[in-house]
Amino acid sequence: MSTHKPLKGQRAIVTGANSGIGKAVALALGEAGANVVVDYLFDPEAAEDVAQQIRDNGSQAMIYQADVSDEQQVQAMFQATIEAWGSVDILVANAGLQRDAKVVDMTLAQWQKVLDVNLTGQFLCAREAAKEFMRRGVEPSLSRAAGKIICISSVHEVIPWAGHVNYAASKGGVMLMMQSMAQELAGDKIRVNSIAPGAIKTPINTAAWDTPEAEAELLKLIPYNRVGDPEDIGKAAVWLASDDSDYVTGTSLFVDGGMTLYPGFREGG
Ligand code: NAD
Repeated sequence: MSTHKPLKGQRAIVTGANSGIGKAVALALGEAGANVVVDYLFDPEAAEDVAQQIRDNGSQAMIYQADVSDEQQVQAMFQATIEAWGSVDILVANAGLQRDAKVVDMTLAQWQKVLDVNLTGQFLCAREAAKEFMRRGVEPSLSRAAGKIICISSVHEVIPWAGHVNYAASKGGVMLMMQSMAQELAGDKIRVNSIAPGAIKTPINTAAWDTPEAEAELLKLIPYNRVGDPEDIGKAAVWLASDDSDYVTGTSLFVDGGMTLYPGFREGG
């Protein structure tokens, strides 16, 4: 167990935290001393398992079922957290999904679902977080900032993605939403940043890495020559949530093994 607790006493909400990147972020924030709301949509047992691991590491945790694309459910989640723990200090807007199709075959429902969850869902959560951060202001014993919002974006906020126009549009939208919120909220001492993961081994993209052939193909896109683990994102989230990054706002932190440097130059390759 880590003795370094840069987030001690802070209260975090992590959306979609029962799986993949959200789970790793929730565990890392808990390990860093934060109390964590583990938001989930399906699979309460998986959410409870994450919460129990956080408690075993000495922080508080509770699970909460909320669909991030539903305004009332998001507001109720923030209300419940504030009632239980007094306030919120950190939001990690992570919940996301894909509904892939060629653009000529993409239904309006596929387009709308991805925008509703990946973009509108982040807006709804960030809005509630910002309102609470502004209400409370800075608590110097906890943090130099009034609050921190971390959007989980993607390398596809800058790399176009044929066959996934809904997903790329949602993540491109997250980038300018994040930057605009950062500009607007900086005067209130609220920091807003994104983490833009490259290829990370989670259920969202299993087919891209779960056979040696698929992994070899994927590695052609990654100069650092390894597929990322969810824990790589957890560590970045702890840094962006902590005062170690107090002068950082409006930034996308690419955690991608150099994928955005594509085509990666390899000697002799
Ligand atoms: P995942 O499928 O394991 O996790 C996504 C989580 O979001 C799940 O818990 C799911 O139930 C939840 N979710 C979906 N819709 C929701 C809703 N309406 N309300 C609440 N929760 C909802 O996949 P992941 O890879 O861990 O994805 C997490 C985030 O990371 C996503 O935003 C994704 O776009 C982003 N991302 C992932 C990768 C990668 O390589 N895995 C790369 C770039 C970005």
